[in-house]
Amino acid sequence: MMRMPSSLHAQRFLLTASIALLLISPARPQTTSYEFNDSHFHLTNNIQEGPDIHDFLKMMGTRTGRVALFGLPLQQQWSYRDDGDRAPKYYLHSDAPLYYYSFTDAYIAMAYKSLAKEQQARVDPMITGFNPTDMYAADHIRRVLNTFPGVFSGIGEFTIHKEFVSSKISGEVASLEDPALDRLLDFAGEVGLVVLIHNDIDIPFSDVLMKEGTEPAYLAPMKAVFKRHPSTTFIWAHMGLGRVVRPNKNHARDIEAILRDPDFRHVNFDISWDETAKYIVATPEATKTMAGLMQRYPDRFLFGTDSAAPPDESKYTKVFYQYDPLWKSLDADTSRKVRLQNFERIFDEARRKVRGWESAHVTHGYSN
Ligand SMILES: [Zn+2]
Repeated sequence: MMRMPSSLHAQRFLLTASIALLLISPARPQTTSYEFNDSHFHLTNNIQEGPDIHDFLKMMGTRTGRVALFGLPLQQQWSYRDDGDRAPKYYLHSDAPLYYYSFTDAYIAMAYKSLAKEQQARVDPMITGFNPTDMYAADHIRRVLNTFPGVFSGIGEFTIHKEFVSSKISGEVASLEDPALDRLLDFAGEVGLVVLIHNDIDIPFSDVLMKEGTEPAYLAPMKAVFKRHPSTTFIWAHMGLGRVVRPNKNHARDIEAILRDPDFRHVNFDISWDETAKYIVATPEATKTMAGLMQRYPDRFLFGTDSAAPPDESKYTKVFYQYDPLWKSLDADTSRKVRLQNFERIFDEARRKVRGWESAHVTHGYSN
């Protein structure tokens, strides 16, 4: 080997060192440096209030890479007859009904469009302002895509059966058997929109009221919905759990039966919501059961916060840290998939398909 003169040696060392420095400290954090992508985030609350989207991007900071972002389509009515001057901000704070607030989709689209290009790349907006009991729901979704092409990646979170909520919505009660639901899910499949659906796996307090061994009330109807729509990509929010819809002792087994069955390969699960996390981190055994399920099916779970209208970064990221025991129980590959890569795979595919559908079908140019 030829010996270099020492000054040249030093120059070369400096050059190598500065290249290395450039590589380890990029101007902007790369995707791989983020802690998580968020598959489930509400920018607004039940009365359509929430942070400015630019402030929210600051909350994402260097921890959150990308986000599936939507409003909350169920608006809490302020009934003066019922609530007087006590303006309700949350659906449990009033007996007045909730109603479908379609303007949310225009609001979310305009918020997204106000972002710079590199900020938009981190956001996947979702359409939620439709009534799933209405045969015209699919037409609403088509109209939103037509009016705001280049924006949306999916539909949801929308709700069929949800403890305390479904019964409060004015109009017909939603149902998994409704042809209106099938029509909108067919349309989502045709376009390539990801479907984020909230449907409790069971009725509340069923463990107290039902006999041992009874199947959760909505498990079979949900599976039937998935089977009727094999070309639609689903994310079943919260694995069907809720505030009082607890996982029964067969919950992991029931979820695994779906994961194992090739007929349900289009079905994924999110573990969003502090109410879901409370079950998973309740005991070391519960955490171990969940970790085992994720390690056997690492491509099928997504982390999400289910944060709604957070005021600051620590409130926004709270659920992620609540899951610390789970993150510690997963191998590095599974953890990375659940926190980051499954989101990227599912939403990149949705963006590609929806943009393709739009270029073939969007007929007018309201948007610029
Ligand atoms: Zn939900």
